[in-house]
Amino acid sequence: MSSPVNEALIRDVVAEVLSRLGQVAKPGPGAAAGTCQVGGAGARGAAGAGAGARTGFRGKFGVFADADEACQAAHEAFLQLSEKGVAGRVKVIEIVKRLCEANASEWGRIELEETKIGRLDHKIEKLKAQRGIPGVEFLHPYGLSGDHGITLEEYAPFGVVGAVTPSTHSIPTMACNIISLAAAGNSAVFNAHPAAYKCAVTAARVFNEAIYRELAIENLACIVEPPTLASFDAIARNENVRLLCVTGGPGVVKAAMASGKRAVCAGPGNPPVLVDGTGCLNNAAKCVIFGASYDNNLLCIGEKEVYVLEAFFDKFMAAMEKHGAHRLTASQVEALSKAAFVFPPGQGAGCPHPVVNRDLVGRDPSVLARIAGATIPAGTQLLFAETPADHLFVEEEQMMPFLPVVRVKSVEEGIALAKKAEHGYKHSAIIHSHDVANMTAMARALDTTLFVKNGSSLAGLGSGGEGYANFSIATTTGEGICNPRTFTRVRRCVMVDKLRIF
Ligand code: NAD
Repeated sequence: MSSPVNEALIRDVVAEVLSRLGQVAKPGPGAAAGTCQVGGAGARGAAGAGAGARTGFRGKFGVFADADEACQAAHEAFLQLSEKGVAGRVKVIEIVKRLCEANASEWGRIELEETKIGRLDHKIEKLKAQRGIPGVEFLHPYGLSGDHGITLEEYAPFGVVGAVTPSTHSIPTMACNIISLAAAGNSAVFNAHPAAYKCAVTAARVFNEAIYRELAIENLACIVEPPTLASFDAIARNENVRLLCVTGGPGVVKAAMASGKRAVCAGPGNPPVLVDGTGCLNNAAKCVIFGASYDNNLLCIGEKEVYVLEAFFDKFMAAMEKHGAHRLTASQVEALSKAAFVFPPGQGAGCPHPVVNRDLVGRDPSVLARIAGATIPAGTQLLFAETPADHLFVEEEQMMPFLPVVRVKSVEEGIALAKKAEHGYKHSAIIHSHDVANMTAMARALDTTLFVKNGSSLAGLGSGGEGYANFSIATTTGEGICNPRTFTRVRRCVMVDKLRIF
């Protein structure tokens, strides 16, 4: 005798089979042309052609409550994308870039409203910057030709990539991940930060609707709503997910590495700056202010502490003030520090480890100034002050627009302290110098993924320096600034003794 549960299951299966039969018998209006109306009956007729048996998640446009369903839908979308060839990938990239540009103001606004961290102008800029994210042109095959014929190494997709995005740039990270992943022929399932997922869901839906309208692929960039640690686990365990790409702090990096899946990890940083006085102090101050105040210092590459040679210290501090940063007194720094760090009990085995107070992360300088007891001119972008080298603001990745500046006696001391503050993350470091020996010494000692000389940290991502951008910088696992190649498998194809044309 069957149980009520089994009866319900059988009913569902019968309904699903009937619905599929109906779809096969009646392809929708867009089927022949390969274009479908959103939510129209033509979805599987067009998108499913030739792709084998599919469950056909309909009307979801990438947004799933169940992580396993999202992974299954993304797997089907991956197969569909494979059928569309390189032209399909190019189209996806064009759609994502176009939508980021068109919705930059609105999406910047909803992200700021949800997260309450950072600055609207920079959130908008980060969405417009998607234009510069590299696409399929990055995938040059490597060819070999010799007496034994021709060999080609090609960059092939993995399939479904499970991606985790940070609270600091939710939609921008998701968008540039989609661009890189799709350029390489993959689909994605995102687990966004719980404090920044609603905006990501809105953008994901819009991306998927447009991709569906133009390519008849419905769930290429899936997202779990709401994201939880359990949904991350489900994504990491799902057999369709072949690769993880996580962007965030130490917790998520550890979780991804422990998952048993291959993981591209864009981890934390605490970028130090060294000013040795051989270069232009005004330029150094301007660059430091720009980088450290960008989006209220939320960027992982952003300047987080500065070391200045004693002989040039006062001049540098004066240059910082001249270019609009506001200097706090020692007592104001103390008041701010008390509020900026918390010591959760139970951590640090008898010596509690400080944790940055999330309530102050990414907040405006005016908010920090109020807490510090300082009055600052309207429009001030950055607060700064002299601190000792072992100050919490130096040691912790504060992600707020207050910058500690440390006086050092020598370049050697500055480099040693910078290395200590960077904690071996191998993320980013900056030097302002015209001395090649100092530049080389710091680059070698810190061994960071990004090393910028005489510019702001943003020059490392192509803003004011040469190079392409991405909001996922795979520091921990060493792939560097992510690009389409990061998300590929290298496959070799060998033709023995033939096809060489000379
Ligand atoms: P976070 O570590 O709090 O969260 C990042 C993401 O990881 C979120 O989606 C979060 O939900 C998830 N997460 C956290 N712990 C997890 C766990 N144990 N298991 C599964 N998922 C987990 O970081 P944040 O505050 O959102 O972002 C700031 C941090 O990210 C900083 O440390 C910054 O340096 C880093 N970051 C790095 C890059 C880079 O490219 N290297 C880019 C942006 C941010």
